[in-house]
Amino acid sequence: MSSLQIIIAPDPRLLKISKPVSEINKKIKYLLDDMLEIMYKSNGIGLAAPQVGILSRLIVMDCSDKNNNKKPLKFINPEILNTSRETSEFEEGCLSLPTQFAKVERPEVVLVKYKDENGKNNKKKFYGLEATCLQHEIDHLNGKLFVDHISKLKRNRIFQKLLKHKKQRIKKS
Ligand code: ZN
Repeated sequence: MSSLQIIIAPDPRLLKISKPVSEINKKIKYLLDDMLEIMYKSNGIGLAAPQVGILSRLIVMDCSDKNNNKKPLKFINPEILNTSRETSEFEEGCLSLPTQFAKVERPEVVLVKYKDENGKNNKKKFYGLEATCLQHEIDHLNGKLFVDHISKLKRNRIFQKLLKHKKQRIKKS
């Protein structure tokens, strides 16, 4: 059973820059599995380590169709090498910003370099929803949230709603 908990915005821990992983050991592998578990349990398609309070450059993702087989992906020290000029727009959400959504425009294709859990170097192109999701998660590693891509007015409105939810949760507990 995982003991990880997802941090809800606004929270200063979500604004920090995560550190590269220097050694891929058992602890890292267990952490990636725990992150996948909590991501699936929360019905998310991506999760970055800082969202569970760990400032390491680790991401898990699964953008597969729910009716099809699971396609879990694990990224260690991901780095965007190139992006397409063409963009696509998706309505984004985030496990750290529950019930909040906004349209965000990002490059449609990204070329990403990363290590897998066996320490193997990969260089791969991602398209469409996977490209958007991966950019969203890499943003987390750099202390950025999807609401940083929308207007200040919309962003403030979202943070106000989240603060209200937070206060209600504190009162209840
Ligand atoms: Zn997110």
